[in-house]
Amino acid sequence: MVGEAVVEPPSLEKLISEFAALPGIGHKTARRLAYFVLSKSKDRALSLSQSIVDACEKVKHCSLCHSFAEEDPCPICRSRTGAKTICLVEKSSDILPFENAGIYKGLYFVLGGVLSPLDGIGPENLHISQLVERIKSEKIEEVIFALGSSPEADSTVLLIDKLLAGVPVKRSSLARGIPMGSELEFIDEITMLRAFESRTGI
Ligand SMILES: [Zn+2]
Repeated sequence: MVGEAVVEPPSLEKLISEFAALPGIGHKTARRLAYFVLSKSKDRALSLSQSIVDACEKVKHCSLCHSFAEEDPCPICRSRTGAKTICLVEKSSDILPFENAGIYKGLYFVLGGVLSPLDGIGPENLHISQLVERIKSEKIEEVIFALGSSPEADSTVLLIDKLLAGVPVKRSSLARGIPMGSELEFIDEITMLRAFESRTGI
């Protein structure tokens, strides 16, 4: 019919909207990705969808540190039993720069976010009580806060610091002035090493 808008098939539209819901993917990129997937062999596309299904089914949270893992406890918690330092990060992927730099042999703890009242994230939405519990039960000697330097991260650190009142654990923070927070996972090894070595008490 003349003048009728060209529409994409509903299933393709749905695929585009799924891609567009991913972080950092605009509608244009989502459309390009969807067309790319469909232009490849069917096996390739099915292998992609199967990988998503597999990851969703196999990857769980370590019950000790809350990082992504296929086993519980995760390999890090299992192999570093008895370590007395915990590095506190916002999300699982923040562990990678530390491990890639090979500068840290202690434990990690994934908080699951930072306090953000505007987004409805309060203490009850984070693993704060489990963190405090682990610090006490494993007699942790140092907590390294690696949550970044946003106001939200600062108030999260303040709250945890308050909850740890009276607990004999040293608290330190990665050096300031280094881009962190949501970008922590992209930090290069040298920057990470510098931030780690010049950490200061809070
Ligand atoms: Zn773990």
